[in-house]
Amino acid sequence: MGIRLKKLKGKGTFQRGVHPPGRKEISADKKIEIMPAPGKVILPLLQNIGAPCKSIVKPKQVVELGEKIADSKEFISAAIHSPISGTVLKETTVTLPNGRHVPALPIRGEGTQLDGQNLWDRLYGGEWPKKFDGKFSPTEISDKINEGGLVGLGGAAFPTHVKIAPNPKKQVDTLLINGCECEPYLTTDYRLMVEASEAIISGSILGGIATGAKDIVICIEDNKPEAIQTMQKAAEGTDIQIAALKTKYPQGSERHLIKAVLDRIMPLGQLPADVGVAVSNVGTIAAAAGAVLRDTPLTHRVVSVTGGGIKNPKNLLVLIGTPYGDIIEYCGGLTEDAAVVTSGGPMMGFAFTDFTMPITKGTSGITVLTKKDTKKAKETACIRCGLCVDVCPVNLIPTRLATAARHRDSDLAEKYNITACMECGCCAYTCPANIPLVQLIRMGKVMVIANRKN
Ligand code: SF4
Ligand code: SF4
Repeated sequence: MGIRLKKLKGKGTFQRGVHPPGRKEISADKKIEIMPAPGKVILPLLQNIGAPCKSIVKPKQVVELGEKIADSKEFISAAIHSPISGTVLKETTVTLPNGRHVPALPIRGEGTQLDGQNLWDRLYGGEWPKKFDGKFSPTEISDKINEGGLVGLGGAAFPTHVKIAPNPKKQVDTLLINGCECEPYLTTDYRLMVEASEAIISGSILGGIATGAKDIVICIEDNKPEAIQTMQKAAEGTDIQIAALKTKYPQGSERHLIKAVLDRIMPLGQLPADVGVAVSNVGTIAAAAGAVLRDTPLTHRVVSVTGGGIKNPKNLLVLIGTPYGDIIEYCGGLTEDAAVVTSGGPMMGFAFTDFTMPITKGTSGITVLTKKDTKKAKETACIRCGLCVDVCPVNLIPTRLATAARHRDSDLAEKYNITACMECGCCAYTCPANIPLVQLIRMGKVMVIANRKN
């Protein structure tokens, strides 16, 4: 570990995984820019990993920035708030980059919108306290986070109040704040650590109170020295530790983070709380500070717009619900050799072609790869080299999973534990036969889950 930590047992890394080119330099130095509000936002009613929300507004209703427009009674869900002042339009359906069709509420912007520096100041600027002296109880913190509709902003979109809520049955001793951002290209979390470090520290302390964790560790890969330095400075005067971890993909996955920092093994099918840990992304915890201290619901997020196929790469603060096309246009559009547009990064993201779709709470970036980036030799037969097995961080046998999926053999796919696959893409990245292992495994997982229901 780059920085020695008292009490922490991990070695700062994990077994297996890969080292894809990071390509962070494309956008790492671009300061977060505030994109003006679009004319219309489209808010999918499912933006978390749990239950979908139902609209609580009517067409033609006028709403204000931050007003709740959809909610769910389910515990594992997250309310949706308007990121714009305007008028609600008729409910529609959108297809998200992951292929899911979901109902959505369009809202047409009207009047003056909170913008520029004022918006930044509301969300991340100004003073962020480091001491709370019993001001908030754990339940008050998780209730405010629930009310703000927060979900994990690193991509998983798990409702934050569920992770943060005090749970007497599963005592948490350590809160890990995930600033690894191991996915190539993306620099969203990096910029937030550099530019909004005080909000991250405030949120981390509140997260510690809510979970009951006595140790709080901010985890950053060692390819981000400026972020490590900024976070160390911001944490001065607190007990928060900063862990510099070895750069390796997928270091940011919860299971591998817990192993790297604490040397605890989270068995498949279990949650971090089962091994005494809570994990939250840096962007999420900054948003949590806002929800608790400023009553700001989750209406905006930072996205990296990056890759060789975008004319002007940027890190942007955008309204949730902004169409991808508006964001791409704001960045000057696509270059002539742009080949693949991905929601997220190249390892775990989803390629898509419909730019009218909106970004959601879980959209961490837009990566545009060029023809050169995507030039791959043709798929050939498996040569049984075993490389995919060597790199799988979950200890699966990707080649067998892919074969089972290809043959639509659900029982075999179950036998090889296909649903444990985290779709990290390490196997496909390393396969010399260019077998689309992740696509096949994704298909196989759908087949297995459908089979279980029958
Ligand atoms: S099988 Fe799944 S978890 Fe294993 S390397 Fe491939 S995508 Fe990652
Ligand atoms: S890496 Fe590719 S070629 Fe090698 S065993 Fe796995 S699937 Fe087969």
